[in-house]
Amino acid sequence: MDYMQASTSFSDSDMEFDKNVPRICGVCGDKATGFHFNAMTCEGCKGFFRRSMKRKAVFTCPFNGDCRITKDNRRHCQSCRLKRCVDIGMMKEFILTDEEVQRKRDMIMKRKEEEALRESQRPKLSEEQQKMIDTLLEAHRKTFDETYSDFTQFRPPVRENTCRRITRSSSVQTQNYSSDSETFNSSPESLESSFFSNSLFSNCSSGSSPGGSSDLSMLPHLADLVSYSIQKVIGFAKMIPGFRDLTSEDQIALLKSSVIEVIMLRSNQSFTLEDMSWTCGSEDFKYKLDDVTQAGHNMELLEPLVKFQVGLKKLNLHEEEHVLLMAICILSPDRPGVQDKALVEAIQDRLSSTLQTYILCKHPPPGSRLLYPKMIQKLADLRSLNEEHSKQYRFLSFQPEHSMQLTPLVLEVFGNEIS
Ligand SMILES: [Zn+2]
Ligand SMILES: [Zn+2]
Repeated sequence: MDYMQASTSFSDSDMEFDKNVPRICGVCGDKATGFHFNAMTCEGCKGFFRRSMKRKAVFTCPFNGDCRITKDNRRHCQSCRLKRCVDIGMMKEFILTDEEVQRKRDMIMKRKEEEALRESQRPKLSEEQQKMIDTLLEAHRKTFDETYSDFTQFRPPVRENTCRRITRSSSVQTQNYSSDSETFNSSPESLESSFFSNSLFSNCSSGSSPGGSSDLSMLPHLADLVSYSIQKVIGFAKMIPGFRDLTSEDQIALLKSSVIEVIMLRSNQSFTLEDMSWTCGSEDFKYKLDDVTQAGHNMELLEPLVKFQVGLKKLNLHEEEHVLLMAICILSPDRPGVQDKALVEAIQDRLSSTLQTYILCKHPPPGSRLLYPKMIQKLADLRSLNEEHSKQYRFLSFQPEHSMQLTPLVLEVFGNEIS
């Protein structure tokens, strides 16, 4: 019977060590290994005490009955060694019976087995899934420049101060303006709720139809930005594992219908709840809603777009989840014109199950709660944003003076399906 092992684990797991207690055997002064039978002792004295108790041994001191026990002489007088054991508080009640030792061993074994089972049942990313995530992260980082340094190459942003023009013509508007600036200092939550009831904003923007009478001063800049983003999304898509297995017709069909959704998704990285803007570096490249209205879009698109951006931001996605969501968005088998739906679906399934497993094993609660369905809901939101965007784009592009401001790529991607 290996009592020694059993009692060691008993003392180590069930007794709290006080860091301040010197780890010296109270019996012989040797290096102690912990509390054994209620006292701090070395392994030797632990075994001695247990053996003596089991045997119910009776010792007599061959000397005066007051031997000083040391590490070196502890074998010389069992009587005084045992007396010392009792003196420092060792108790035979702490010695486990054979039965207790067995029960304890069984318990430890059972605990280990349960632990192993739990470990084996825990969802884990497969090697292939991890590789997919790594590939997507790399693809995204190669195609998304967080310094936004390329923006300087676009046709420069020109901002017409339409709001001030309207404000000047109405004293009511001036009053609203000051109360609005108060709103802008409050929390993001209250800002969000007050954002769309902002009468200043609705007066200066949503009144005009898309591509309407205003001169769309921001259109050239934002057209360049969108054109640039389209190229980046194409670059990203090409690196999605499986995408290149599709025919080029299917690749084009998928990209053509998803690219604006992916642009909206990736722009969330620069979107800030602080002032509801897309902040891409310098003040020049800080885009507020008004900038987008000056590129020909109205509130029918912008209100749900900002709500979408706020909702997505609040999910606090990991970069891994962000890139998977973009890939899932692109690889949607139900896009118009897709021929090999089965293959697209197979690739999307792989991406979706990777995302679900990732959330299960890497995203801590409470953020992980219902995160997957919430992300899928975002994809549904994107479909209606896409639809509204197409509608407004068509209106814009039907006017030659505006469509000539667009780039060939924008015209090609957002142009009519049959060209
Ligand atoms: Zn000792
Ligand atoms: Zn003695």
